Amino acid sequence: MGYSHLFGPVLSRRLGRSLGVDLVPHKTCSYDCVYCEVGSTTHRTTTREEYFPPHEIEEELALFLSPTPDLDFITLSGSGEPTLSLSLGRIIRYVKSNFSSYPLAVLTNGSMLWDPAVREELIPADVILPTLSTVEEESFQKIHRPAPGLTIQKVIHGLRDFREVYKGEIWLEVFLIPGINMEREGLAALGATIRDIRPERVQLNTLDRPGTEPWVSPATHEELAEAARLMGLPGSEPIKSVVYGGPRPSCVENAAAIIRDILKRRPSTAKDLSEATGLHLHEVGKILREMSSDGKLSTCREERGIFYSWTGD
Ligand code: SF4
Repeated sequence: MGYSHLFGPVLSRRLGRSLGVDLVPHKTCSYDCVYCEVGSTTHRTTTREEYFPPHEIEEELALFLSPTPDLDFITLSGSGEPTLSLSLGRIIRYVKSNFSSYPLAVLTNGSMLWDPAVREELIPADVILPTLSTVEEESFQKIHRPAPGLTIQKVIHGLRDFREVYKGEIWLEVFLIPGINMEREGLAALGATIRDIRPERVQLNTLDRPGTEPWVSPATHEELAEAARLMGLPGSEPIKSVVYGGPRPSCVENAAAIIRDILKRRPSTAKDLSEATGLHLHEVGKILREMSSDGKLSTCREERGIFYSWTGD
């Protein structure tokens, strides 16, 4: 059976082997980040909606998880901002009630935490991964291109209010772009705000995959280390490039469909796909060649290799 709302498992740099659950259609988000790997936002909004019938998502989860596959996380993420879905709370409660052996993470931009309903719905999740890359309005607008009404102060207040009630772990992402949000004073102010929010982890991120805007360039390891020092957050971790571990059991019955679903949501190299699916690199290469000859892929060469993106239906 093909899945409409699940994708992967993908190999996530922050969460290991992660089963993605998509609660919103492509590409629905409150931001339109210049570095987004999912592509330009076509529906930019802060209005929450029930985008899909929640029972459909629950049925797919039950089917996928009943053989107890090897996963590090179930992650609400995917084609946009998951907190925009009115099914958020129901799906979190469903996973925690029925599949509690799997940690549940929510990959969010954090822009909806000003809404008390969103804060309440997120409470049963094990890990929340929000983003805070600046405390300055100008760079906030430049990096995230938010929906009307969102300001950096609103986002920061939401994060602070959430911290007061949330007992799980917050792994805060700081996305750094040379020339935009890496100057000394801005990083010092950002560090002070982050200390106030008290996340369990601070993860420094930079461009790893093709982003939406071609002018966005990655920071070097040295620049990330210097940014951590300027923020006064010596424990913050640069998010590592994908590490290829030993072979993992394949969960793949319909390999081409799974690879298609991953590539629809994130550009990936052949090695990423091999690790995420458990397929041998040669098998992944064969599937990619077939997709390419059918005109369903575009490619882009980056530092980590050739990234494939889905361009078919
Ligand atoms: S990076 Fe995340 S928050 Fe930014 S536009 Fe993409 S999906 Fe939305």
